[in-house]
Amino acid sequence: MPTTLEIKDLHVSIESKQILKGVNLKVAQGEIHAVMGPNGSGKSTLANTLMGHPKYKVDSGDILVNGESIIGMSPDLRARKGLFLAFQYPLEISGVPLAQFLRSAYRAVKGGEDKANSPAVKGGVGKANSPSPTGVGGEMISALAFKKKLEEKLKEVEMDPAFSKRYLNEGFSGGEKKRAEILQMAILEPAIAIMDETDSGLDIDAIRKVAEVVSSMAGPKMGVLLITHYQRILQYLKPQFVHIMVDGRIFQSGGIELAQLLEEKGYEWIEKEAVPTAS
Ligand code: ADP
Ligand code: MG
Repeated sequence: MPTTLEIKDLHVSIESKQILKGVNLKVAQGEIHAVMGPNGSGKSTLANTLMGHPKYKVDSGDILVNGESIIGMSPDLRARKGLFLAFQYPLEISGVPLAQFLRSAYRAVKGGEDKANSPAVKGGVGKANSPSPTGVGGEMISALAFKKKLEEKLKEVEMDPAFSKRYLNEGFSGGEKKRAEILQMAILEPAIAIMDETDSGLDIDAIRKVAEVVSSMAGPKMGVLLITHYQRILQYLKPQFVHIMVDGRIFQSGGIELAQLLEEKGYEWIEKEAVPTAS
């Protein structure tokens, strides 16, 4: 059964200001959805709420993963349910090499899944010899097994292995930060990836590269909820479904032709049409 993410009549506020005013959306593993909309329409609010950012308060409605409500679950637990969020503004964390960060993330999210594939769970790093797992109840992946996985994924996303030795996001260019996110996604293999403005601040070649990698991962094993203001990334990452968000609601849903319409006409006409329904 494919994993599904279902958003039902979601109302969200920030500091008692209502931002989302009844969002309905269903994304299944294997589908690519794009949410587009003018600045300030609530796209990032939707992404952050899906990942459980504490600042965003769900006033009513529900978020279901495979029919189970995830409201109230920690971001970690949501990740374990198969969700992944690529951030619009990735954080800088000093002093942690990317490879180490990725291994911790993998352990936190995947738990014991790789146990059977890791006969070499000894002589690794840290507490690999300890009988009790660390983190969120997970068995540790051995340093060696993880190194292999990382090398594989670095190749997949066409990144220089030296990159993984650098400190997380420290001195990374905009493009490198995005690639680090994509690498994290490739390693975590989420059922549904939520990407917020993954194209912002990238030049056209970097956009194409990122889109190609995400496309190659999207498919039966991964669904994508791509949030974007601009239409250009959609040339490379072709969504089957396009939704336009205006003033905290999905104003219109359709196919790729909706994105083309936005490209031609901009957002103004929609904002005018949306006024009568806005509260
Ligand atoms: P988008 O991503 O579509 O540009 P956002 O979800 O970022 O839109 O913002 C939607 C609305 O919520 C805007 O009016 C914005 O000013 C407001 N908002 C967003 N984040 C915060 C915050 N942390 N505190 C207060 N208001 C916010
Ligand atoms: Mg945004």
